[in-house]
Amino acid sequence: MTGRLRLATVWLAGCSGCHMSFLDLDEFLFELVEQVEIVYSPVLMDTKVYPEAVDVVLVEGAVANRDNLELARLLRARSRLVVAFGDCAVTANVPGLRNLLNRAGAAADDPAAEAGEGAAAVLERGYLDLADEHRQLPRAEGIVPPLLARVLPLHAVIRVDHHLPGCPPSAARIRALLEALIAGRPPDLRGDAMLRFG
Ligand code: SF4
Repeated sequence: MTGRLRLATVWLAGCSGCHMSFLDLDEFLFELVEQVEIVYSPVLMDTKVYPEAVDVVLVEGAVANRDNLELARLLRARSRLVVAFGDCAVTANVPGLRNLLNRAGAAADDPAAEAGEGAAAVLERGYLDLADEHRQLPRAEGIVPPLLARVLPLHAVIRVDHHLPGCPPSAARIRALLEALIAGRPPDLRGDAMLRFG
């Protein structure tokens, strides 16, 4: 690698809490921008298209809809190292709770298939059963991405190089990972301070 490391952060089906923890890096953010070039991030810039030749990408959130799946595949193709950033990316975590509502046997063969029976129950619960008025399922081709049959952790759809657990991972944990990757060594994620979920 020549020049500064090209860093991206991506937000799939998550609550943004992992990115808020990234911003909790506080003063280290000033050191970071001296050492890396941030090329894509939902909280730090307004680039619409995921760029080529990314060195490291932190991916927050689970894979819950077609847009998430397409972006996950694109970032894998354009990035050297992919980090599952936080419990939603590592395990599906909170977004994955909707899998509990799936009808038995729904989409067992292809969990990355689009909704069908797999997500029908959660859509009906949210938009029909609990609605006070204007009961209707959301439909807007090209605007509202279809849900996948199941919410998936990142490693279920693409190869992941590192997993950083935590809901969210602490700023200290994020810093330790970034410092290792910038130095060109694998992050040491052993021990309670680095590995605990939640
Ligand atoms: Fe939010 Fe926790 Fe998921 Fe991060 S891991 S996106 S903080 S719910």
